This record gives sequence, C-alpha cells and structure tokens, in this order.
Amino acid sequence: MRVFAKIAFATTMLIASAASSLAASLPVQIVAAENFYGDIASQIGGTRVKVQSILNNPEQDPHMFEASPSVARALTHAQLVIYNGADYDPWMAKLLAAAPAPDRRAIGASQILGTPPGANPHLWYDPQTMPKVAIAIASQLSAIDPEGRISYQDNLTHVLQALEQLKHTIALIRGRYTGTPVTATEPVFGYMAGALGLTMRNQPLQLAVMNNTEPSPSQIGAFENDLKTRQVRILFYNSQEEDSFTRRAKGIAEEHHIPIVGVTETMPEGLHFQTWISGQLSDIEAKLASQP
Ligand SMILES: [Zn+2]
Repeated sequence: MRVFAKIAFATTMLIASAASSLAASLPVQIVAAENFYGDIASQIGGTRVKVQSILNNPEQDPHMFEASPSVARALTHAQLVIYNGADYDPWMAKLLAAAPAPDRRAIGASQILGTPPGANPHLWYDPQTMPKVAIAIASQLSAIDPEGRISYQDNLTHVLQALEQLKHTIALIRGRYTGTPVTATEPVFGYMAGALGLTMRNQPLQLAVMNNTEPSPSQIGAFENDLKTRQVRILFYNSQEEDSFTRRAKGIAEEHHIPIVGVTETMPEGLHFQTWISGQLSDIEAKLASQP
C-alpha cells in the first residue's frame, strides 16, 4: 500500500509539473493597445512577459488610428490583451470580436472603472485608474503563469508604491492651487486637472478638437478671450491633437505670457508611466508657482 501510495504521489507530481510547465510557456505574450498600459504590464511581468504596445508614437493622432493587419496578427498570439475602452480604441474591441480565442484574457480599463458612455476617454490621466489596472494585470498574469505569482505580486507592490507617490504629489498641488482656472486645447489632461483641483474652462471646445470637428465661433471667441484677458493660469497644449486652431491658441498664450504645459496622449519613448506623469506634475507646479 505504502509503495503504491508513493508511486501514485510521484505520478501526480509528474503530471502536476508537466501541467505547470505547459502553463508557464514563457514569456507570456501581452498586447497593449496603448504604451502606458504596456509599460505597467512590463514592470509587473518583468522577464516573464513580452509586451507589444500598438499606440506608441506621440506624433500620431490616436483618435484617428486604424489598425493594420499586423495588429490583428499580434492578437492571434496574445495571452493577455490590455486596452483603454471608452471608445478611445474601438478598433481593439472589433479585432478581439473578429478573432475569438478562448484562452486569451483581456483587461479593459473602462470596464474596471465602470466608465459611463460618452465620458472623457483619457482614463489613464485619472489617478484612480492605473492602480486598478495594475492589480488586474498582476492577477491575470498569476492566472496565466502561476509559477510567477510571487514575482508578479512583488513587482505589483513596487508599482503601487510609485503610483501612491504620485497621489501624494497631486495632493500637495491640490492643497496649494485648488480653484485655479486653466484651459486646454483638448481634454486629454481633464481627469488630472480635476484631481489637482484646477478649474478647467472651455470643455465643449476641447471635445470638438478631440473629435476633429470645428469648434463653434462662440466657443473659439470665449476660449481666445480667456487667453487674451489672462483669465487662465495655464494652457494645456496637446501636441498630438494639433491643427491651425490649436497653433493659433498657442501663439495667443505666448503673446499674453500664459504658461503652456505640453501634454501628450501617448507616452514618449524612454519613460515609465510614473516618470512621465511626475514630470508633468513638476512642470505644472513650477509654472503655477512662477505666477503672482
Ligand atoms: Zn485625446
């Protein structure tokens, strides 16, 4: 009996190790629709994952992006897909639906957050978003590759600490500058401006720019008047959504000495999400502090 039990135990162990080595075919293939989600995934996954980010060029208009066949091909091998949702990357939902794969897992930021339809889609600038996405990434990776669970949890702890540090900086700025009027050419920075307690003016105009439609003459008049009469302390300028109207706005802001904070939708190369956001926060704080 004892011998039999031992053999049975050994067999079970063999099967178990065969199963786990199957599950842990590394690296885990991840496709992220946007590079800031891809960056968080690689920080959590480390050497156990391979991440491909689709939107990774801060010179391109992401709202106008159309997926090429190579994106569809990348998705056929993906074990985990991360995307924004909220109609920011509608091409991703279409591709996932067109090529169903039962073993592929997907994380949609807007689903995790319960973003209502029609809301500002630039969710990653909301300080509540990335900690939740990071937790979801660690949990999905642990399910795909259980042997890596401790490593994923450990890396998640570091990512969450860095994101907590950002919240601390945000709270400091909010404490000093709540209610400060600001404006923007496009709503990319809207959630962060809200978290900083800043009062964002001209929002309907920003939505028109985002949707590549013409703002109305009265919207343009009110916006330019804000700049010319110095009703705002910062112009947030989205260089990824640039046209003759936004360039003209930039000129007016420069002429009237309104500090311009450059923001992009896509994370510039060579940065991590945390360093990208904290660089923008330092820029804002310095520009607000420089004004009487
Ligand atoms: Zn945008």
